[in-house]
Amino acid sequence: MRIKSVTPLWISLPLVEPIKMARTTVETAENLLVRVEDVDGFVGWGEASSAPTMTGETPESMVAAVNFMRPALEGLEIEDVSAFGQAIDGLMYGNAAAKSALDMAVYDLAGKRARKPVAELLGGIVRRDVPVLRMLAAADRVADVAAARRMAAEGFVAFKVKIGGAAPEADLERAAAVRAALGTGPHVSADANQGYTREQALRFAAGAAAAGLDFIEQPVAWKDLEGMAMVAAATAVPIGTDEGVHSLEDIERHHRMRAARGGSLKTIKLGGLSAVMTAGRRMDALGMSVNLAGKVADSSVASAAIVHLAAALPQLDWDVSVTCQYLARDITREPLRIERGHARLPDGPGLGVEVDESKLSASSVRRAASALIWAGTEPHRPRACALLPAASGPASPSPRAPPARASGRFPRAGKAFARRPKDAMRGRAAP
Ligand SMILES: [Mg+2]
Repeated sequence: MRIKSVTPLWISLPLVEPIKMARTTVETAENLLVRVEDVDGFVGWGEASSAPTMTGETPESMVAAVNFMRPALEGLEIEDVSAFGQAIDGLMYGNAAAKSALDMAVYDLAGKRARKPVAELLGGIVRRDVPVLRMLAAADRVADVAAARRMAAEGFVAFKVKIGGAAPEADLERAAAVRAALGTGPHVSADANQGYTREQALRFAAGAAAAGLDFIEQPVAWKDLEGMAMVAAATAVPIGTDEGVHSLEDIERHHRMRAARGGSLKTIKLGGLSAVMTAGRRMDALGMSVNLAGKVADSSVASAAIVHLAAALPQLDWDVSVTCQYLARDITREPLRIERGHARLPDGPGLGVEVDESKLSASSVRRAASALIWAGTEPHRPRACALLPAASGPASPSPRAPPARASGRFPRAGKAFARRPKDAMRGRAAP
């Protein structure tokens, strides 16, 4: 397929309620949306949430990065979609989130052309329903327990308590209260988002088993692997890394140093869908648990990509975070469905969701920039994703069933760009 045009858009999507993490509170998702059209008129969409403390990228920088790479992309023939992510990595250093949106859009485009779901292009579908992790991020014990009970009644079986913004003892009390409210069945983890010092993390770890936690995510700073290893050695509860994983090398290092027994994979950190598949396969081979996650918060575009990855990855011990459930508005004609706390692989080719371009009108441009900024002008809807309670729909497969193993062969990486404009990168200055 030959790319005709690449268009970056900056979209601004309000959340249903604020998500409170150790160092920040998210009230609005500021995301990059990328539209890629080929010469035959097929259109693919990709998305990346801005997460400056995780990837160093802002909405402005992601738009600038796509605009910088755009001359090298428009007019290109792509033969092997699985190698596209590696190929664009050579266009500029870093900017993994911006590159992940491009990679996602090209996968969507390739799937639509081939009339195949993206999960098939990623190596094959090994599951169609995945338990969706629900964040508990009110930073208030009563509110988090009430939310846990409400979401468990809707069918959710995996929960993550946001910690690190208070004293470890208060966080432990809140986590234990959530576990007590949910009983022993659901997964309950705690994510500090680097919010603790080593000493605080060790205090939390001392009570983590008694609080009934299944794992603790990123208790200390992303680069403090010695601290991670200290915390890991101090508790039987597995330690996971999130902010610390941006590459295969990071995974190997955490494993080697016994700094983590699992980790959270995100497209914005790894740089795209192929990279997440490679990382997930490597973690499975190392015996590390995998949490697959969108960033707070993706629209149904990136959330659909997460579900396609979840359908193809060999193992998802630590569940899947699909974040369109936290948005008040979405940008697709039909939002991704989350039914009984599970996401179902969308039908249809590509990502299986369609962006409603009428919502991306020029009238919603708020700031002069090279990107279109959409703030959402249509009437408020209660939730973006279609959250369906337990009373509706057929029963989903048990989330505790042994994970299916990948049987499909991963497409061999090869030459992604058959032709590249000779002057694609000539004379380009860094933005
Ligand atoms: Mg995390």
